[in-house]
Amino acid sequence: MKKNQKNSEIILSKLNKLYTVESFLNFNNPWELLIATVLSAQCTDKRVNIVTPELFKFIPTPKKASAESAQTIEPYIKSVNYYHTKADNIHKNGIIIEEEFNSCVPEKMEDLLKLKGVGRKTANVVLSQAFKKNEGIAVDTHVLRVSQRTGLSGEAKTPVEIEKKLMELLPRSEWDDSSILLIKHGRIICKARNPNCDKCEIKMYCKYYKNLKIKRITIK
Ligand code: SF4
Repeated sequence: MKKNQKNSEIILSKLNKLYTVESFLNFNNPWELLIATVLSAQCTDKRVNIVTPELFKFIPTPKKASAESAQTIEPYIKSVNYYHTKADNIHKNGIIIEEEFNSCVPEKMEDLLKLKGVGRKTANVVLSQAFKKNEGIAVDTHVLRVSQRTGLSGEAKTPVEIEKKLMELLPRSEWDDSSILLIKHGRIICKARNPNCDKCEIKMYCKYYKNLKIKRITIK
């Protein structure tokens, strides 16, 4: 077994003991998860979960979203970043799903990518959490940062490259949980500005921490 693979196993098993694996967004069906995930781009999950109960009542189905205009959706999501564009995307997704997918949120990556405001990250979230399909790994800003700092993603830089690296490294059955665990670690300990390395349970396996220790020793 390669060293990086062994490291990844240890890191993931340690994170598994620290955090529970559950969705950050509230939803009852694939359509609601799709909307919530589209809204969560550049916005906190907490904010999204505040606005979605009323929004879901207003547009409970793709058909209803297609029949409403973006302008009538906007007031429900006004406190969400980029609400204007997102309301338009939700309305248009209602139309696309009605016309091309028989009123059902599609279950294939290539089809999900035809929707507005949906990239690989959103598609991976919908596939794994709504349909229990592991077709990839959702790489958001936290997954990207933790993967790079720990060294899990090697020299990969872009979300697509990092996703590919992680997919090579981790067993397919763990792709969806891994994403959630890395996000939690990024939010709680491995923060963007001040990673709390001294309190981090995976520091002994982290490239960033090892380099930090070398720097401290050199300065002394
Ligand atoms: S040791 Fe520091 S940089 Fe590495 S994962 Fe932990 S908090 Fe992040």
